[in-house]
Amino acid sequence: MNKVVFLDRDGTINVDYGYVHELDKLEFVPELMEALKKIQDNGFKLIIVTNQSGIGRGYFSQEEYSRFSEKMLELMKKKGVIIEQIYTCPHTDEDKCECRKPALGLFEKAIKDYSVDLSNSYAVGDRLRDLKVCEKYPVKGILYNPNIDVVNKDDKYDGKEITRNIVEFSSWLDIANYICK
Ligand SMILES: [Mg+2]
Ligand SMILES: [Zn+2]
Repeated sequence: MNKVVFLDRDGTINVDYGYVHELDKLEFVPELMEALKKIQDNGFKLIIVTNQSGIGRGYFSQEEYSRFSEKMLELMKKKGVIIEQIYTCPHTDEDKCECRKPALGLFEKAIKDYSVDLSNSYAVGDRLRDLKVCEKYPVKGILYNPNIDVVNKDDKYDGKEITRNIVEFSSWLDIANYICK
């Protein structure tokens, strides 16, 4: 069984400029690497679960996406941070797939692939739809909200729908301290 931290990508790992795929828009959020290194050193595997509807909408190609992912993993590895796997949904809402968050298809695949120790695992995201997994499974949810004074806006979830197992932090170092307590 593996302890895992599921990570959203845009707005959680890299700054979300909207459909980010250009290498020059790859900018990590503050304190990320230090925090992830600490989490990893405490025995957690790091797995990214990401909606990339920019592919389905034709804003960028699968190749451009792969190039961006490779660069991201390379820069993280240089800091000693190893991402085990990136699970990607390339679809749009209209595709009605089972993998676009808040759907749990990708999480359920990851849970199987890595025989995840659910009650000792976490999900981190900047939107509540990233944390839907915490409703069905005993994974603890962490909302990363650098502008904690601002109400986190989300199209589908107003914060009342998912309350179980969720805490909110404005800094990655606080997240690392919470997970590694
Ligand atoms: Mg996000
Ligand atoms: Zn999908």
